[in-house]
Order: sequence, then C-alpha cells, then structure tokens
Amino acid sequence: MQETIFSKIIRREIPATIVFENERILAFRDINPQAPVHILVIPKKIIPTLNDITPEDAPLIGELFVVAGQIAQAEGIAETGYRTIFNCRDDGGQEVYHLHLHVLGGRPMRWPPG
Ligand code: 5GP
Repeated sequence: MQETIFSKIIRREIPATIVFENERILAFRDINPQAPVHILVIPKKIIPTLNDITPEDAPLIGELFVVAGQIAQAEGIAETGYRTIFNCRDDGGQEVYHLHLHVLGGRPMRWPPG
C-alpha cells in the first residue's frame, strides 16, 4: 500500500498534535481545522479509501467510531454535537489516501454540505 504523510505522522517523522493513540489507532488535530474541534482518527494500518475496507477490517472501523466518541467527550462537544466524515476519492473531496475519520465540532454544522 502507498504511504502518505499520515504514515510519517504515525512514525513521528513529522509533528502533529496527537490526542489519542493505541496499538491500532492514532488521532491528531487537523492542520487546517474547519471547526473549533477538528480531529482526524486514523487506523495505523494503511487503508487508502473506504473502497478498500474489507470485512476483516470491520472491528477496526468500529473502533474508529468508539475512539471518535471518546474524543468528543474529552473535547467537550459530545453534548453540543459534532459531525463525523469519511471523504472518499475525488468527488468526496479526499486529499490524503490513508483512511481517516474527521471529527468536527464546536460550532453548528450546515446541511447539506457544499
Ligand atoms: P481529506 O480531504 O483527505 O478528507 O482530509 C485530509 C485532511 O488532512 C485535511 O483536512 C488536511 O487539513 C489534513 N492534513 C493534511 N496534511 C496534514 C498534516 O501534515 N498534518 C495534519 N495534522 N493534518 C493534515
């Protein structure tokens, strides 16, 4: 699988503000935040896009959401609400081809998205 800048963040080769880590998952603040809280929750395993998720990845993908919920609690946005997003490929607006769950909160979100 092709490495991206996120592999360098996992290996601490470039800096990031890390808010959570375990053996399988890393979460860090987005460098270009779109909301007062904008955190990326990523698997350490390289999965380029949603299209590349296999049935064996199901527990890992589930854990991304468990971590997202814990982060929302820790960041104080669980009660006010937040949005989780996976962008997929060009039309989805994906720029980094290493699966990542955006957790956005701290302001009202518009719907539908632009
Ligand atoms: P995508 O558009 O692929 O769904 O989201 C990629 C996200 O990664 C963007 O929100 C972008 O700001 C963020 N990002 C890109 N490069 C870096 C980086 O080097 N460090 C951090 N913390 N975030 C990054």
